[in-house]
Amino acid sequence: MWNGIRTRLATLPRPRLPQPCLLCAAPGARLLCAGCEFDLPYLTRHDHRCATCALPLPADSRYCGYCLQTPPAFEHCRVLGTYDYPLDNLIHAFKYQRKLAPGKALSGLLAELLRAEREELDAVEWPELLIPVPMHWTRRLKRGFNQTELLAADLGRALALPVLSRVVRRAQQTRTQQGLTRTARIHNLRHAFSVRPRAERHLAGRRVALVDDVVTTTSTVRALSRLVREAGAASVEVWALARTPEPH
Ligand SMILES: [Zn+2]
Ligand SMILES: [Zn+2]
Repeated sequence: MWNGIRTRLATLPRPRLPQPCLLCAAPGARLLCAGCEFDLPYLTRHDHRCATCALPLPADSRYCGYCLQTPPAFEHCRVLGTYDYPLDNLIHAFKYQRKLAPGKALSGLLAELLRAEREELDAVEWPELLIPVPMHWTRRLKRGFNQTELLAADLGRALALPVLSRVVRRAQQTRTQQGLTRTARIHNLRHAFSVRPRAERHLAGRRVALVDDVVTTTSTVRALSRLVREAGAASVEVWALARTPEPH
């Protein structure tokens, strides 16, 4: 009898205790307390940002030098914040320590920002489907998950958009981009992605948003957006959690 009761108790749903804030451990926050949420380094607090790649700019210019000189195939980036404390720590915990709570907190905030931006736009300008930046399958196997797929799934649910995580693949295992110059990065990525056979019909004439965690040099999203446009997509934009300027 006791065994039976114990089994039944174990299957009862646990009462949801308020979780402490992920950053300051203040009790009762759902994921982040109001203060920590307010203090995040939101990109919208930078008055001047590149209209294409969202890079914070010092002066009142519309585009950064790189986008002016070499316009990418994506139209613009919608990004939550700059890759600074504590956003960097939250993303790092999500990406490398497989902590899902920071991922949820940040995808929730990005979804809120996107919803607000959607209200200002015509429906004809808004993306119709999401593609997470793919990871080579061996790396995905090693890490156990692809953080951009989780992020895209959260955003897709929040914004009622389909997620196509298998139309594009990482065709070869690229060397890690860290520490490479811009030219070397572009060379490294030139053949890194491919559209799967018969996937083009899902892209033809569609407005696509690529989902990434951190946009650093834009090399990855440049390569991927070019490929998706060549496969017939009508337009491409980028959605990401953070933007970090690179030392050129
Ligand atoms: Zn807090
Ligand atoms: Zn730019």
